[in-house]
Amino acid sequence: MITRHFGIPVTSPGAILRRERDLGTPLGLETADTTQHGGLVSDKIIVELIEDWLRLHGGHGFVFDGFPRTIPQAESLQSILVRHRTPLVLAIWLDVSEETVAERIASRLQCQSCGFTTSLSSGNFAERPVCPYCDGPLVRRNDDDVEVLKKRLEEFNGKTQPLAAFYEKAGVLRKIDGNRDRETVFGDISRLIEQSA
Ligand code: AMP
Repeated sequence: MITRHFGIPVTSPGAILRRERDLGTPLGLETADTTQHGGLVSDKIIVELIEDWLRLHGGHGFVFDGFPRTIPQAESLQSILVRHRTPLVLAIWLDVSEETVAERIASRLQCQSCGFTTSLSSGNFAERPVCPYCDGPLVRRNDDDVEVLKKRLEEFNGKTQPLAAFYEKAGVLRKIDGNRDRETVFGDISRLIEQSA
């Protein structure tokens, strides 16, 4: 949605790893077990992915989704951005309760081609699981499962939560209540992006 609305490139290590897994590349196969069970992939692999992506797409602004997820990743990002002479202007923290997360993953559908994300309960996607943007297949993610969610939340609480204080200290953290509907949350994110441009 951010790319379509603002023309800013967005990348997500999770999306890259899913594509690598679907293509059966060595990276996809090496990380498939970890992603499928909700663990965090090593910082080294993730930081290399981001550096490669920035070499190709870096320029006038970009958004990372699901990165950084650990303090070492955030520290590496600082050095990468210094090398790219790009200051970090905004870190958006979407506050979502564990109940909301559980409800959302139980009905999440994702386009295998472009990553568009929706829900089984919206529109007529349950009957016709086809992406409205690119006609790709809308599928359930294999890590959207109650047991895997437990592990993902454990990783989040232990390794990702400390990033709130890290970016608060850096003066770039903005919190948004992510429990509300998609349009309202996107409206708030858009305002933050516009204000920081
Ligand atoms: P996501 O699509 O952001 O939910 O990520 C799916 C999975 O990819 C996660 O559960 C992790 O296994 C892996 N992953 C994505 N981003 C990161 C990251 N920044 N650090 C480590 N592992 C990640």
